[in-house]
Formats: sequence, structure tokens, C-alpha cells
Amino acid sequence: MKRVLVCGAGGFIGTHLVTKLKDMGCYVIGADVKYPEFSVSDADEFHLVDLRDTLAVSTLLNNDIEEIYQLAANMGGAGFIFTGDNDADIMHNSCLINLNILDGMVKQNIKKVFFSSSACIYPEHNQQDSAHPNCEESTAYPANPDSAYGWEKIFAERLYLSFAKNYHLNIKIARFHNVFGPLCTWNNGKEKAPAALCRKILETDSHIEIWGDGTQTRSFLYIDDCIEGILRIMNSDINFPINLGSERMININELARLIMKLSGKFLPIQNIQGPLGVMGRNSDNRLIEQSLHWSPPDNLEYGLLKTYTWIQQQMVN
Ligand code: NAD
Repeated sequence: MKRVLVCGAGGFIGTHLVTKLKDMGCYVIGADVKYPEFSVSDADEFHLVDLRDTLAVSTLLNNDIEEIYQLAANMGGAGFIFTGDNDADIMHNSCLINLNILDGMVKQNIKKVFFSSSACIYPEHNQQDSAHPNCEESTAYPANPDSAYGWEKIFAERLYLSFAKNYHLNIKIARFHNVFGPLCTWNNGKEKAPAALCRKILETDSHIEIWGDGTQTRSFLYIDDCIEGILRIMNSDINFPINLGSERMININELARLIMKLSGKFLPIQNIQGPLGVMGRNSDNRLIEQSLHWSPPDNLEYGLLKTYTWIQQQMVN
């Protein structure tokens, strides 16, 4: 049985990844500062550990681990990342986590790691036109992310690549583009647009508020496709950062209307001031197509309905 460690196993993507790795027959060790909020982890062992703590990480990694999936980070939607209020913690905490993991890998002779980067690393100046954003992998430099979160992720990418070069680690890096689905954060200020809109539509009969004029565009990747992509990338010979996202771009007003159509509940939209991020962002999937002969399918409607129904159940409980 392959022994794998999932860091961030108490989070949204980590919880789903643990389940999939268990289904595949791995022995899964989960680590996080918290247990999953909305389900029970399927991990064989779950360690409550603060990965900023060097000693704790070195103890955790002393476990005959063959592969690590590093998803732990200070993370959230626009309300968390783009206000600026959390920048120091985002940079400090995620840097410490990644430094500790890489340091521990070298000491324990663990060779393979997956790191979850983000579309937020892409330069702000390439994402001002909502209809034509450019997020091709090769445009990441000269770097100019619009958030501290993006700067931390691009630093971390370089950190992992440096360890690959100097310590011969086998490193996989995916730049996730807005992942959504059941078990995601939906009501604590860290939620992203799909979950936030589902909740807003569910909790009122009058109107919903959307930050900005709603013409800002994004693409949204359903969780099952994200997990599939992580595993395909992990099992490939790709050794450079690569996009993992949907190529179906939609603006936020349209996203809200799509959720209303799926739910059958139609409400007026009121556009208000709020934290926004860039005006346009979309996954460019040419490199993943070329490298894997695969790219994520378009499961937006299916995923939104699943997410809406799941949040509806959460609100009843
Ligand atoms: P999440 O917040 O649900 O999961 C992150 C987990 O990391 C949380 O459970 C949190 O408790 C844990 N964590 C944070 N600090 C820790 C610490 N000091 N010690 C131990 N655990 C700690 O986020 P997610 O949506 O599951 O995202 C997973 C990864 O993917 C993150 O690295 C995130 O930056 C990246 N990512 C996600 C998206 C997305 O749309 N969800 C997009 C781009 C990148």
C-alpha cells in the first residue's frame, strides 16, 4: 500500500482528495490544524498539526511517506484575499508551511510532492480586459500578481522548483482556477463566488447583492475534475507549473443567473461596491491538453446544482 500524506486534509479540496486516494487503495495520512468541517475524513490517520511548526512537521514526515500532496494554506475568496486585511498572515503562514515541508522532505528523503498553486499568480496587467484575459503559463513573468496571496504562491512555486533542482525532488505544481463543489466553505467570509451566490439566493426572497458591476469574468472548476487533474498531473512527467481549470469563462452576473435558472428561484441582482480582484481570468488549457492529452470537462451546470443542493441541506441542518 502506497503511504501518502495530504497536508490541508481538513480543507475543501483535501477532504475530497483523501477520499479519492483511499478509493485508489492508498494508506492516507491526513494533516491539518482542523478536522473537516462538513464531513468525517476518510484518512487512515488524521494528525491535528500546525504545519508552521518545524518540529511538528519533521515528526509528521517521519512516517515512511512516499508522496505528499501539499494543499495547506491560508486561503479564501475575494472577501478574504482582496481586502488586504489578511496579507501578512497569508504570506507568513503559507511560507512557513512550504519551507517546513520541503526541509522535512530533504531530511526524511521523501522525493515526490504535489503543490497547489493558484491562478492568482498571473500578472494583473494581463487580466484587465474581462473578455480577453491571458493566463497562459508562459506569461507568469515578469511577475505582477494583484494580491499578497498570489505573490506568496509564485514565491512558493519558485521555492519548490529550487528544491527540485538542488535536492532532486520530483515536484508537481498545478495552478488551480476557482474550484467549487459540495464541502466547500460557504458562509464564513472565506467563500468563493459559486458558494456565496448559492447561499445568497437561498437565504432571501427579495434580491441578491453582487460585488462590483458583475461583469468581471472567471472560470470555475468542479471538484471532481480538480481531483482527477491533480492525480493525472501527479502521475505524469510534467515538471513545470501548469494550469488546472475550466476554460469556460462566465461573468459573475451570468453565474448568478445560471444558478437561479438551475434552482428555479429568480431574484433581482443589485450590484454594490466590494472587493473584486482582476476584471477577467480564465484557464488557458493548451499546455495541459498538449502534455496530458486531457483537460477538465465543462461541468459547470452539474457542479452548481450539486453545490446549491448541498448548501440548501446545510442551511436546513
Ligand atoms: P481550504 O481553506 O478549504 O483548505 C486549506 C486547509 O489548509 C484548511 O483546512 C486549513 O485549516 C489548512 N491549514 C491552513 N494553515 C494550516 C497550518 N498552519 N497547519 C495545518 N493546516 C493548515 O482551501 P481549499 O479550497 O481546499 O484549497 C486547497 C489549496 O488549493 C490551497 O493551497 C489553496 O491556496 C489552493 N487553491 C485553491 C483554489 C480554490 O478555488 N479552492 C484556487 C486556487 C488555489
